[in-house]
Amino acid sequence: MRVFKFGGASVKDAEGIKNVYDVLQKVGYEDVLLVVSAMGKTTNALEVVIKDYFEKSSALKSSVQEVKKYHNQVLLDLFEDDKNPVFTAVQAHFVELEYFLSHNKSPNYDFVYDQVVSYGELISTTILAHFMNHMGIKTEWIDVRNFIKTDSNYRDATVDWDLTQKNISKNVKRKMLNITQGFLGSNENNFTTTLGREGSDYTAAIFAYCLNAESVTIWKDVPGVMNADPRYFENASLLNQISYREAIELAFYGATVIHPKTLQPLQKKEIPLYVKSFINPLLKGTSVSKGVNLEPYLPCFIVKRNQLLISLSSIDFSFIMEENISEIFSLFHQFKLKVNLIQNTAISFSVCVEDKFDNFDELNAILSKKFKVDFTPDVTLYTIRHFNDSAAQTVEQGKKVVLKQISTETMQIVTVE
Ligand code: ADP
Ligand code: ASP
Ligand code: MG
Repeated sequence: MRVFKFGGASVKDAEGIKNVYDVLQKVGYEDVLLVVSAMGKTTNALEVVIKDYFEKSSALKSSVQEVKKYHNQVLLDLFEDDKNPVFTAVQAHFVELEYFLSHNKSPNYDFVYDQVVSYGELISTTILAHFMNHMGIKTEWIDVRNFIKTDSNYRDATVDWDLTQKNISKNVKRKMLNITQGFLGSNENNFTTTLGREGSDYTAAIFAYCLNAESVTIWKDVPGVMNADPRYFENASLLNQISYREAIELAFYGATVIHPKTLQPLQKKEIPLYVKSFINPLLKGTSVSKGVNLEPYLPCFIVKRNQLLISLSSIDFSFIMEENISEIFSLFHQFKLKVNLIQNTAISFSVCVEDKFDNFDELNAILSKKFKVDFTPDVTLYTIRHFNDSAAQTVEQGKKVVLKQISTETMQIVTVE
């Protein structure tokens, strides 16, 4: 079985959905499982709904309406006949969403978040499955929440591999075109959970692992994995073939073309990952597999914006050692700050972190009792894999460098712009 993942960009409008059909015609669709994200920026639009809901804003109605209008337009563009059952199927999801918003009693933001954002994927897959049927391809629509089981850590749930493996081996039908939602799972009480933003690539890897799939292909608006994000770097070039290790490193440092959690399950079973263009599906793209890189080592550039640089120094000139460091790290873990760079000297300790959940103020209050805390918000972290002098120069030109760290293969530079 092959697993294909179509992200938000590939299904952002009716043309995108038609293009998925074209891609499948070209590359085949028997014995395939499609993992699909919410259309375009739907997840962001649903985040606005959640914000309005918690702020009890009068804008709530119109923010829900926005999401409805967007999907309705796609439906009208795809199906001439407004009696097509897809209209009621999509409507049913909106009825459920509105019912949840008017009846929910839980004050837990993360819980509500997952219950609400999940409609993005539920709706996109409903539309795609109906469209495939409309075009004569029989599909099996799967509710992923009956397959991927997780703990109850809403918004960043951890997969229960044993249960998930059992569900998938027992219930996924082979020789079919299966369509399911990326990003979602459910906990032991069958409440919806999510695997973290951009988590649909990971969903594809989970299915591939449990199905012993032949390969995973993630279909993108770029030709494959490149040595830099082409949005920010002119002259980015395609990497034809890279090892799992290189891909993990690139994804870990922030090459958003692959979600970092995707590689590990695939590497464990040596399932190849292809990153390909949904615009030119017959081009080779990038192949990620076992072994050494066949590429000459091109410098690879990764940019992470909106980072927070925190420097801690001891108040009484005592060393920052194992004991404090482990305490500091468990606090980062507790407050869900993702550490992207660490540098320490005898009495000071600097980290570049991502504060996705806006927890730094609370953490700062705790840290400040023990350390002198300095911080700079909105810094940019550049990582160069396989760096050389000219690559470093490209990054540093015209910017103020506040921190730099070099290891054998990787250079990291923190700048304020
Ligand atoms: P999806 O629709 O699957 O969510 P994304 O938008 O998350 O797709 O990922 C594709 C984008 O990743 C590209 O448009 C590109 O701007 C960005 N990107 C970042 N780093 C790289 C890289 N090294 N190679 C290719 N694309 C990259
Ligand atoms: N729709 C989710 C998001 O935008 C998951 C994904 O697209 O991978 O984060
Ligand atoms: Mg995405």
